[in-house]
Amino acid sequence: MTQTIAAFDRIGEENAFAVLARAQALAAKGGVGGKPIINLGIGQPDFSTPEHIIEAAVKALRDEHHGYTDARGIPAVREGVARYTLARTGVDVSPDSVLIVPGGKVTMFAAILMFGEPGADILYPDPGFPIYRSMIEFTGASPVPIPITQANAFAFKADDVLARITPSTRLIILNSPANPTGGVTPKAEIDALVEGLEAHPDVAVLSDEIYERMTYGEDHVSLLTYPSIRDRLILLNGWSKTWAMTGWRMGWSVWPDDLYDKARKLAVNAWSCVNAPAQWAGLAALDGPQDDVDTMMTAFAQRRRLVVDGLNALPGVSCIEPQGAFYAFPDIRQTGWQAKPLANSLLDETGVALIGGPDFGTLGEGFIRVSYAASAEQIEEALDRIRTFLQR
Ligand code: PLP
Repeated sequence: MTQTIAAFDRIGEENAFAVLARAQALAAKGGVGGKPIINLGIGQPDFSTPEHIIEAAVKALRDEHHGYTDARGIPAVREGVARYTLARTGVDVSPDSVLIVPGGKVTMFAAILMFGEPGADILYPDPGFPIYRSMIEFTGASPVPIPITQANAFAFKADDVLARITPSTRLIILNSPANPTGGVTPKAEIDALVEGLEAHPDVAVLSDEIYERMTYGEDHVSLLTYPSIRDRLILLNGWSKTWAMTGWRMGWSVWPDDLYDKARKLAVNAWSCVNAPAQWAGLAALDGPQDDVDTMMTAFAQRRRLVVDGLNALPGVSCIEPQGAFYAFPDIRQTGWQAKPLANSLLDETGVALIGGPDFGTLGEGFIRVSYAASAEQIEEALDRIRTFLQR
């Protein structure tokens, strides 16, 4: 075929999936040098979905929830999200502004499609979740990176964001706690950003708060708590990380009134509705006991210590303490390696899967992402293998 399909030449990738596939292929061959593969590459909790959530899905299947649902999401589930949001943030959102979507990613897909077109600028964090830039380029809009730096503990800076707004800016994407850095932006910085945004009433904001429950110091501050931007704020959240449900494909978004119906129409056109039993499971996650989430967070906090101390003890590696999510983003510049060759060699030669910082943006060079969603034993073993490799 000779047709050019330009937008699809611009669409990008999420290399974590490619690394996962390579790691799985190596695992199927028995690992590397007889040792099992340790996957610190993929961003998903190594915990099972809590039992009561699984039971709710099984019950939904038995209760014949086999058909299409409301494209916006089952009303009871949207009410559940509204209750949960009120409990977490103190903000009363209407269930009619909540859209249930098949995974957190789908909200960024919808929001970027809505605002992206040739001539539009969209601001996004670099390093950041790779799909932001990929989707911006897909729409023909211009991606404008917001620098996320180690010097600023991987938080975004209000001034860095505001300085990049031009008359072409349509949408700003923010992410805290952040992938791939674990950075958490302090409230004072968010206050300053929102205050600055008041001078730009036509610029929309997509706040990706999927790691909202995963903070180790300061509590998470939701952009929903700022009334002055509510009429242009799209909130991204979901079940994947908090309840270890990445494979269930369950996310939610909160939309301003003017945009909600556009997003609903996209749902009708693209996916009709989200898997019905998964939605009932999602409601059980929101309303049910949160002990499993607490147990997982306690484990992540312990592993964070292990990972940060272990990385700092490696030759040429230094790592600041991530304040959120389950990622560390160590600086590997003193090892003499570039990030992607290092990540590739570590997988091929030691069986440890990690992601090179450049897979998250050009400013990720010199860093690698280490997911500590793995057992303490696996983390210790991985650190040992990396030490031996770097000392060679
Ligand atoms: N946003 C960020 C920052 C993420 O890291 C991820 C997943 O890794 C997502 C969104 C997408 O989540 P989901 O798997 O629910 O689509």
